[in-house]
Order: sequence, then C-alpha cells, then structure tokens
Amino acid sequence: MLEKPTTDLHEKQGATRAGSPAATGHQWRRLPDSLPVTAKTSGHLWGYPELLAQTHTSGWPFRMPRDSGAVDRRCGSWAMVGTCEHGHVYARELICGRDWCPHCGQEDSKAHLRRKASWFPRVVQAVSMVYLVLTVPPEIRGRYRTKASLGKLGTAAKRMMQRQGFKRGLRRWHWFGEQRGQELREYHPHLNLLVDGRWLPKEQLAALRESWARILGVDVSRVNLKARFCDTPRKILHRVKYITRATFLDWRWDEELARELVGFRNSSTWGRWDEPPAWDLPASEEGWRSGYRVAMLEHGVCPEDGSAIVWGGIVRRVGAPTWRHLGAGYWMQQRK
Ligand SMILES: [Zn+2]
Ligand SMILES: [Zn+2]
Repeated sequence: MLEKPTTDLHEKQGATRAGSPAATGHQWRRLPDSLPVTAKTSGHLWGYPELLAQTHTSGWPFRMPRDSGAVDRRCGSWAMVGTCEHGHVYARELICGRDWCPHCGQEDSKAHLRRKASWFPRVVQAVSMVYLVLTVPPEIRGRYRTKASLGKLGTAAKRMMQRQGFKRGLRRWHWFGEQRGQELREYHPHLNLLVDGRWLPKEQLAALRESWARILGVDVSRVNLKARFCDTPRKILHRVKYITRATFLDWRWDEELARELVGFRNSSTWGRWDEPPAWDLPASEEGWRSGYRVAMLEHGVCPEDGSAIVWGGIVRRVGAPTWRHLGAGYWMQQRK
C-alpha cells in the first residue's frame, strides 16, 4: 500500500498530480467542515468504516461498489493527517476494516491490529478472565440480520452480564463459524464476551444460560453457553486476538448481510477500565508492545506527550523515509 515514498507530505485530496484520483477523473469531495475532529471524538468518529461508509459520504473512496466484488481496491491508499498540541504530526491510513477485504480480513491486518490494540490496554488490567460465547439457535437467526436488532441483542447481553455482577467486559460478534476456506457458509452469529474472573460456578453458568434463553425467547435447551478460563497473560492475549479477528471472509457468503453490516460497530466494551496493568507482557508476546501506542492513536492521543491530536488533512501516500511506521497503519512524520 505504501510502497512509494513521497516527499510531498501535504498533498491534499483533489490535488491534480499525475496518477492521483483527481487526475484520473474521480471526484473527491472535501471533508465537511462541520464534522467534529477533536481528539475526544476523533478516535471513533473517524474510525473507519462508520463515517466513510455512510451514504451522504458516498462520494468517498470507500463506498461499497456494486460490481467489483464489494471490495474497494483503494483500501489503505489514503491517509488522514493529524497534529498534536506539541506539533507531532501523525498519519492514519484510511482502511475499510471490512472482514471480506483482501487486506483487512487477513490475520494481523492493520484492521485486526487496531482492534487488538484498542482492547489491549484494558485486558492488561485483568488478572484473569473468563471467555464466554453466546449462541443463537438456527430457527431465530433470521431475526438478527439488521444493525438495529444485533445492536439491541448485544446490549441485552451486556445488561445480563452486569446483572450477574460483571462490572466490566468486552464483547464482539462473530458472524460465521470457525473453519476458514469453505465455500458455502451459513450465517451463525455468536457473541464473544471477555470478563474478569477466574472461574464460574456451575450455578452461575446455568443462570446465564437461562437468562440468555429468556432474552432470545427460546427454550433453554436451544442455547449453548461456552465458557473458557484465561488464567495467564498469554491465554488472555490469545483470546483477544481470536475474538477480534475477521469471520465474514467472503461477502458472497451472504451479500445482503454484508451490505447491512457495513457501518456496524461490532467491538464494544462496558464498565470502567482505569486500573494500572496487572501483569507484564510475557517475552513471547512482545509483538503486543506497540498496542499501547496504537490504542492511544486510536483514541486521538499523542503517544509522545499525551496531548490531543486534531485530525484534518488528507494525504494520498505516506511512506519512508520522511514518515516512520508506528504500527497498524499509523505513521509519524520525522522531524528535521
Ligand atoms: Zn505530541
Ligand atoms: Zn480493507
């Protein structure tokens, strides 16, 4: 994506340079001025693809084309530039984040790394965690094929966990089953949850299962509740990686659903996560270290000094040697 270094770092969109979209006839719209771009909101508002996938921004690079396999080949070829209060300049590659994108759907893609990073500073606060999977039986899956119904069901699951005393947690849907590489897929939504804890008594598991069945309006025999205990940092991190991976690897598995899910905010967390880390990163998991930095950038905070980043201009390409890659498609401009 970023193979071509450029010295013109502030090549704004609309610039008519040979080979640029404007020069090749595409119409690029300027960002609406009214959108908030402060650090408080930027992390999620600009977070791809919620904003760019909206219909009123359909002139944007990242709409879903009707005719090209529903994948935008330009994913990652643009970046947004932001500056912190102390003048550090960052670039955030605009990626589509869709499960079925040939880039974003890969394991440890920039999209996957961003999702992992946004959970990482939270899960390091948990001494041990419980991983739960809530399933939806086949006969009622048809009810949960819209952003609204899936959002509501996710919220109901969160409230159920809160009622059971889990003050904080993380959740994310998987849309399809576990094995990759199969041609025909059946929609199989299941909600992944990570909460603090070492183990759950049988009675509590039974209570959760009953409660989930009530929420779905089905007999308790129709729902599965899988629980697994993550009692080491390694197991916790492995679980985060697993939960945040892409599962809808080909839009053809269910095109209608793919279109519906564009813009759905899948990962979410609840409760307070304001404690210091409970453990050190194991040597075998060093790759996670950049997770703090990426998480700060995701939240619009400068990793160098903690000040707010204001995101604004667009550049077409960033790359070495004038930019340094910080991970997950974030770059920092090198000072002269
Ligand atoms: Zn700074
Ligand atoms: Zn993509």
